[in-house]
Amino acid sequence: MNNELSLIYENLNNKYPTEKEYLSSVYEFLTSISEIYNDFPDLGDLGIIERLIEPDRIITFKVPWVNDQNKVIVNTGYRVQFSNLLGPYKGGIRFDKSVNLSILKFLGFEQTLKNSLTTLLLGGAKGGSDFDPANKSDLEIMRFCQSFMNELYRHIGANTDVPAGDLGVGAKEVGYLYGHYKKLANVSNGTFTGKGFDYGGSLIRPEATGYGVCYIAEFALNKYLDKSLNGQKVLISGSGNVGIHAAFKAKELGAIIVGMSSITGVIEDQSGIDVELISKIQTNKLSFKHHLETYPDAKYYSNPRDLWKIKANIAIPCAKENEVSLTDAKFMIENGVIALIEGANKPSEVEVSKLFEENKLIFIPSKAANAGGVSVSLLEMNQNASHLQWDKNLVDQKLKGIMENIFNNIYNTALKNNNIYNLTKAANIASFKRLYSAMKQLGV
Ligand code: GLU
Repeated sequence: MNNELSLIYENLNNKYPTEKEYLSSVYEFLTSISEIYNDFPDLGDLGIIERLIEPDRIITFKVPWVNDQNKVIVNTGYRVQFSNLLGPYKGGIRFDKSVNLSILKFLGFEQTLKNSLTTLLLGGAKGGSDFDPANKSDLEIMRFCQSFMNELYRHIGANTDVPAGDLGVGAKEVGYLYGHYKKLANVSNGTFTGKGFDYGGSLIRPEATGYGVCYIAEFALNKYLDKSLNGQKVLISGSGNVGIHAAFKAKELGAIIVGMSSITGVIEDQSGIDVELISKIQTNKLSFKHHLETYPDAKYYSNPRDLWKIKANIAIPCAKENEVSLTDAKFMIENGVIALIEGANKPSEVEVSKLFEENKLIFIPSKAANAGGVSVSLLEMNQNASHLQWDKNLVDQKLKGIMENIFNNIYNTALKNNNIYNLTKAANIASFKRLYSAMKQLGV
């Protein structure tokens, strides 16, 4: 990293010394753009970098709600409106015990870069709460969502800030959140994406992130190796919304899913996993062990990390940030993995992409690989603005086109940098260029 950027990072570090997730994503970004810094002589005077790495606004609020035992519980709610340079603030809401400001600032920054890469008119944001939806009744979840929205509603709007789901926020939570928003704001304009189809959602939105991951994998396999997903042995972690749909699409494209995981363990089946059954197990919130009742010859491991020790060609981590360590990545490569496609937001620890690069293997960073979800969110916004709903094929075709643009953009940028195996750097540079140009034109 050059001196100017080192100084900017040092100041940020002094200001937010405890926010390690946020600091680490800014660090990766600054390192990536370091070698093109001198191509933009006005960066320093215009304070471009300082303005890009700090969120526009952070809203923090109290979320009191009544549980089924009639006891009042108080959680904390957040919305990090990171940047609206390219369009309305856009990004998911996460409900998870681990939610704190550092994680949301990291995710908001990543979302800003990701949304820039889509080439769509989308700003970046992230929000959520330390509320844990696990083991809560439907009514508890509804009361929590309504209390959360009692504050959030005044900060969002179809042209201001459009939230969506994320970890812990699926179709049910989106329904309760948006349902309450409509009442409070007295509008029906789709200020939320990932909505149910009956009240304004888009077809393919639930599948979009997982499908997008497979589409970009196909473009990459084709470009680098003249291959496709057909016949590849694939590992998928997480088995939530992203993982399940990635598994269905990969299978449809001819891949053999040899390993899948959830927090309840891992299933390995070298002859191909029954994804339908895994999906049912997940919907019923059961342990992966149940898979063995139907397929006694499959293998079960209780530690989710053991997934990465299975022999396969493609790894698609779809669970959570930092789920893949350097040791896991070494196992993967020893076992024949030729491509890692990040389905979750930054599921690999920083050293992992370096290892793939050194071994001249494909590594597609999340800001490119999982951008299909937010892209179809924009298509949902398009449909809401015109009060129409599109058919499935049209949305799917557009999604494929967007993923192809993203892939070509990062691949060509990497080619220009003389390193086609560093798509992480290429993605950061491509995102940065668009944000820089908009920021410059829009003034201080
Ligand atoms: N939470 C998703 C993401 O990380 C989707 C965001 C959206 O659709 O706004 O990209």
